[in-house]
Amino acid sequence: MDFEISDKMQTILDMVNEFVDRELIPLEPEFTRKSFTQMLPVIREKQEMVKKMELWAPNYPVDAGGLGLSLVEHGLLSEALGRTPLGHFVFWCQAPDAGNVEIIHKYGTPEQKEKYLKPLVAGKIRSCFSMTEVDMPGSNPVLLETTAEKDGDDYIINGHKWYTSSADGAAFAVVMAVTNPEAPDYLQASMIIVPTDTPGFNLVRNIPVMGHEGNDYFSHGEILYQSCRVPQDNLLGSEGEGFIIAQERLGPGRIHHCMRWLGICSRAFELMCRRANVRKITRDGKTLASRQIIQAWVAESAADIQAARLMTLHAAWKIDTQGVKAARHDISMIKFTVANTMQKVVDRALQVHGGLGMTDDTILAFFYRHERAARIYDGADEVHKTSLARRILREYL
Ligand SMILES: Cc1cc2nc3c(=O)[nH]c(=O)nc-3n(C[C@H](O)[C@H](O)[C@H](O)COP(=O)(O)OP(=O)(O)OC[C@H]3O[C@@H](n4cnc5c(N)ncnc54)[C@H](O)[C@@H]3O)c2cc1C
Repeated sequence: MDFEISDKMQTILDMVNEFVDRELIPLEPEFTRKSFTQMLPVIREKQEMVKKMELWAPNYPVDAGGLGLSLVEHGLLSEALGRTPLGHFVFWCQAPDAGNVEIIHKYGTPEQKEKYLKPLVAGKIRSCFSMTEVDMPGSNPVLLETTAEKDGDDYIINGHKWYTSSADGAAFAVVMAVTNPEAPDYLQASMIIVPTDTPGFNLVRNIPVMGHEGNDYFSHGEILYQSCRVPQDNLLGSEGEGFIIAQERLGPGRIHHCMRWLGICSRAFELMCRRANVRKITRDGKTLASRQIIQAWVAESAADIQAARLMTLHAAWKIDTQGVKAARHDISMIKFTVANTMQKVVDRALQVHGGLGMTDDTILAFFYRHERAARIYDGADEVHKTSLARRILREYL
């Protein structure tokens, strides 16, 4: 494998890093104080600048209106963007829209592409992905209670979902519901596009997560689908294909998360080193950096981040060259490895900042609160470890 960065990609990375430093990081104090809706006007201004730089929607296919970067290239870019919480949204490559773009691009009908994909890539609308249920274990997604029953030309959807991230203000949800209850487990569910203004799509609340309810894009919705009627034309792919499409969505989706987490690692690491170098801890001016325990954190974090980066780029390269299926082991490995590396590095950086780390005067406390979920969403650590181990052990039977 070859991770050499092309001249074109290096130019893009330099532009993005400069933009993040100059335009986005200075917004962080405001961002941690205000609601997302209050931030939207300034976010829109920055998005216009990104469009003028011709870096809009970097990871989406060219025929869908994106820049068409490969997964490895997007990985490099995503690390630069992940240094600040607004990076991905401003460049329009944020979850959960990124995953929805990929599956509608691959499985959508021409009408669905026209109605949902085009405006989504153009940034005119947002979307959400509604799979996890309140009363069923997300770790075993075949256990779904949400149903979509046929009635004439329509489906009628009933169910209780939560953690439908970014549902507040989204134009449509991609909903996972059981359409074929008699089929084998993995062929029972389908994905259906549900416009959020459909009667029966009820956003109950934005769930408070780590003390933060959030709003608009920056939120996690609890949704009640109550006799929610949509045309059968809104089926994505074929009936019963929901889990197959979900695998397609979650593979690259997990890589995208890891790449963003590497950006968080880089930023936390940078803040840790800067603080260690200036924080005086003795009368004669010795700094935190003079202490071996801090030096150990710096060295270990540098090595941990580099290991996580190489594993992630390798998994991206494998998906680019051999497809999602060939990279299954790698995807599971990076999901729990990078999430834990991020948590460790952010924790060390916060510790080095002492009381300051607990305030919102740096971005570290925000990262600490908002990124704990990384070890849970898109498959909890334990689930990835168990399924990876089972697959590996089978090879030695
Ligand atoms: C911030 C955030 C955003 C999210 N966004 C979305 C979204 O946009 N759309 C969506 O559909 N979902 C979303 N989710 C839901 C997420 O994917 C689920 O929370 C996740 O799959 C775990 O499911 P669960 O919460 O039902 O936990 P459970 O399945 O109840 O599992 C609880 C815990 O049990 C343990 N466990 C479970 N199974 C096993 C096993 N086989 N072996 C060993 N241990 C096990 C794990 O430690 C796990 O954390 C989001 C979650 C969070 C926290």
